[in-house]
Parts: sequence; C-alpha cells; structure tokens
Amino acid sequence: MSDAIVVGSGPNGLAAAVVLARHGLAVTVLEAADEIGGGARSGELTVPGVLHDHCSGVHPMGVASPFLRSLGLERYGLEWAWPEVDLAHPLDSGRAAVLVRSIERTADGLGGDGAAWQRLFGPLADSYDALCEDLLGPVLHLPRHPVPLARFGLRALQPATVIARRWRTEEARALFAGVAAHAFHRLSAPMSSAVGLMLTAAGHRYGWPVARGGSQAITDALAALLRELGGTVETGVRVRSLGELPPARAVVLDVAPGAAADICGDRLPPRVRRAYRRWQHGPAAFKVDLAVEGGVPWLNPRCAQAGTVHLGGPLEEVVHAEREATLGRMPERPFVLVAQQYLADPGRSAGNVHPVYAYAHVPHGYAGDATGVVLDRIEQYAPGLRERIVGTSVRGPAELAAYNANYVGGDIVTGANSPWQVAVRPRPALDPYATGIPGVVLCSAATPPGAGTHGMSGYHAARSALRQLAGRER
Ligand SMILES: Cc1cc2nc3c(=O)[nH]c(=O)nc-3n(C[C@H](O)[C@H](O)[C@H](O)COP(=O)(O)OP(=O)(O)OC[C@H]3O[C@@H](n4cnc5c(N)ncnc54)[C@H](O)[C@@H]3O)c2cc1C
Repeated sequence: MSDAIVVGSGPNGLAAAVVLARHGLAVTVLEAADEIGGGARSGELTVPGVLHDHCSGVHPMGVASPFLRSLGLERYGLEWAWPEVDLAHPLDSGRAAVLVRSIERTADGLGGDGAAWQRLFGPLADSYDALCEDLLGPVLHLPRHPVPLARFGLRALQPATVIARRWRTEEARALFAGVAAHAFHRLSAPMSSAVGLMLTAAGHRYGWPVARGGSQAITDALAALLRELGGTVETGVRVRSLGELPPARAVVLDVAPGAAADICGDRLPPRVRRAYRRWQHGPAAFKVDLAVEGGVPWLNPRCAQAGTVHLGGPLEEVVHAEREATLGRMPERPFVLVAQQYLADPGRSAGNVHPVYAYAHVPHGYAGDATGVVLDRIEQYAPGLRERIVGTSVRGPAELAAYNANYVGGDIVTGANSPWQVAVRPRPALDPYATGIPGVVLCSAATPPGAGTHGMSGYHAARSALRQLAGRER
C-alpha cells in the first residue's frame, strides 16, 4: 500500500514525491503519459539521432533551484552545460544585444546603458540566492531577507515597460523585453517585470544552461532518486477522480486547477472549487522543432554562439506582440524564442545536422498554422534557414494540450500571469498548496512560485502535505 500518491510526473510531481519518500513515506507516482517527465522530456522528433526537448529546454531556474541543488542530482546523471553566449536578441542591420553570465561583459556590450544595467542587475544577481529563499515559495510568508526582497519588490511591482525605459539604447531595452516576455503576458501590466528581473538576475548568477543529454535528464535523475528511496512510478495511468485511487494518507496533484476540481469533485470545499474553476489560462505556444544542416545561418555571429535567441525586435514590437497574444489576437510578427541546446551539448546533433527549438507566443487555443510565421521570423535574422532544414516537427496549442493536460489551450505556463494570479496563485490562502481536503495538495506550476523546471512548487506542496499529516496524526 502507498502512503502517498502523486498524480503526474512533471518536475513538480517528482520533486514532491522525493520529499515525501525522504520522510519515509511509501510513494507511488501515477503518470497519464507513456513516459515520465511532463514538461521535461526529450526525444528524436525530426530525424534519427537528433535529440530535441519536447518542452522546457533552457534552465536558469533549474540550475538555481534551491531544492534541485540540495539533492545532488549529478549522482543520478544530471549535468548542466553552458553555451558560450547565454542569450542573444538580434535587431535590424545585423546588430544583437547579448547577455552572458558576466555582468561586466554584458554591460560592455550595451554601450551607454552598460552602467545602468549593472546598477540594476548587479545587486539582484549578488543577492539572487537569498531572493530565491523568499520568492520561490508561498507569497505570504515572513521574509527571510527583507532588504533584498524589498529592493526586488519595488521593481517587480512595476510593468516591464517602465523598467525597460530606464535604458536608452534599443539593445538594452529589447534585451530586457525579451526576457520579460517569458511571463507570457502584457508587458505594460503591473508586476510584468517580475519574471524578467528574476530570469536576468539568474542569468548573471548562474547562466542559462541546458541539461546534458536533454531536459529529460532532470526528471530521469529525480525518478532515479525516488526509486532509490523506495518510490515507484507507473505510466499510462490517467487519474480522473480521487475515488479511483487506492487508499493513501496523502495525495499530491501535479495538475492544472481545473483538472484538480474535476478529480476532487464534491469533496472540494465550494470556495476552493469556485477558485479552481475561475483559474484563467493565458496565451499559448506554437512549437516548431527543426533539424538543420549546418545550424541556423545567423547574420550576427553572437547569435550563432547563443543557447537562447529571442526574436522580437525592439521593445515596442515585443510589447505589441505580447499584448496581441494576451488579448487573443494573432500578432503579425509574434515573439519567437529559439534555443540551440546543441551548442552546449553537441551530443544532441547527428554529425552536421543540429536540433533547433523554436516556439512562438500565440493566442490561447490558436487553431491556425504558425509554422511559416515562425520560419519567417527566424529568416528575418538568418536568411537562408529554409534551405538548410532537413526535418520538421510542429505542435500547435491543441497538440501541446493533448501531449500534457496541464497545458490547457496550449498555455505552457499553466495559468495566465495576470497581476491577480501572480499575487495569489492558485487562490487566496495562507497555504496555497492546500486544497481544503485533508492530505490532498496541489503542486503544479499553477502554485507558487509558478512555471519553470525547478521543482519548487512540488517541494513546498509536499511539505504542506507533511504538515497536514502531522496535524491529523497528533
Ligand atoms: C514548449 C515549452 C517550453 C518550455 N520552456 C521552458 C524552459 O526553457 N525552461 C523552464 O524552466 N521551463 C520551461 N517550460 C515550462 C516547464 O516545462 C513547466 O513549467 C514545468 O514542466 C511544470 O512542471 P509541473 O510538474 O508543474 O507540470 P508538468 O511538467 O506539466 O507535468 C505534469 C504531468 O502531469 C501529468 N498529468 C496531468 N494530468 C494527469 C492526470 N489526470 N493523471 C495522471 N497524470 C496527469 C502530465 O501528463 C504531465 O506529465 C516550458 C514548457 C513548454 C511546454
């Protein structure tokens, strides 16, 4: 018999399972898909021998995660690998803004804005580990590091557009806008700078690495540790209700809030059910994976060294594209993220054929084909790309949602990053992981601290479950 059942084997589900198993519970993870890993899975999507990441590909949040770092996952095969350039953001006339781990070298490339970049991000990067202790968990808590937290909070409350306008060069403004666009929300909304500030600070503290052998290595390592602790994982099991689960002292749900409402049914307190049903999903991703002979022919050579390339043009263009996608309109020129994981991890290529990962930000549930738009966007900064493509795999919002039920309407961050939902995810509560059913908790990316392959939601949800068990058994 299991003491605890975890529904879903994404990074958060597996993180929760590891915490519970370390506390001596017999844990079973039930996964709907045929493979474990949720948003951290890899495979040959295009041509044999070329390895792609199905979902998450670049891991500033993973390498910096206090929980993942505490586990010693390198003993289970996890190895981070860094590209020469962490992030590039090309602009017209062959120019590009570049972020590398060294803040000094990044500042050098930003001309007149270098000093202002350093003034903002230097202190944030220096206090990044302390900030993680306060920010990568429940919003309502007693601050452990009030000074860095206040410094961060004052900026994070502001719209990304306000932060970006402190710089004068197109390069610095675009560089920040592209990182802020990871929030998948309007960049003029309050708090829309939070994700950009954290990811940029993480970049200067830890860089933006990939996992050697594919992002699957992260969840494989978690699963290996879990098995060593006596836990088991069953795949091909879609859970539809609590009633179909065997008896267990704790249940951890790595699912979207709407799915949690379905699974828990009328056992959920009505106020919690209403909140889960009201949970809003945001814009979607349209993913295009390519096998490219000789790699992408970037005009700017720094883009050819970059693990991540943001294609969004200047600040105003990124702001417009994010606004349109958030409002449900397909932007003419959407924001496109390109990742070239093979630069840091050459084993993913087959000879001179390299995996290139791209996705566009499109409206929620977008049913059109954005493949051409994505390729046009890349060609804008890398003419001749199409002639080099030898394999393509395309997944729009519907395919992403079918691949993983947590990506409702193609929303890969499991919930709109609106100011309200950023502040009180997934509902206003002192313990945001509690569902109101004793021993049953929610651990998906809809809970704090939100999306990313970091396992922090799983860690905190499991601790919530353990507190509830201790309370019941006293
Ligand atoms: C295209 C894409 C690109 C991304 N890029 C990055 C990136 O570069 N860096 C980064 O840090 N993050 C990235 N992310 C986000 C990251 O992958 C997610 O935030 C993260 O995986 C969330 O982890 P999770 O455990 O909460 O949920 P998920 O990883 O979504 O896992 C949930 C698991 O639960 C299973 N499940 C759902 N419902 C049921 C059910 N009823 N019964 C049984 N099993 C169920 C699903 O099949 C899935 O395996 C990306 C995501 C996508 C899709």
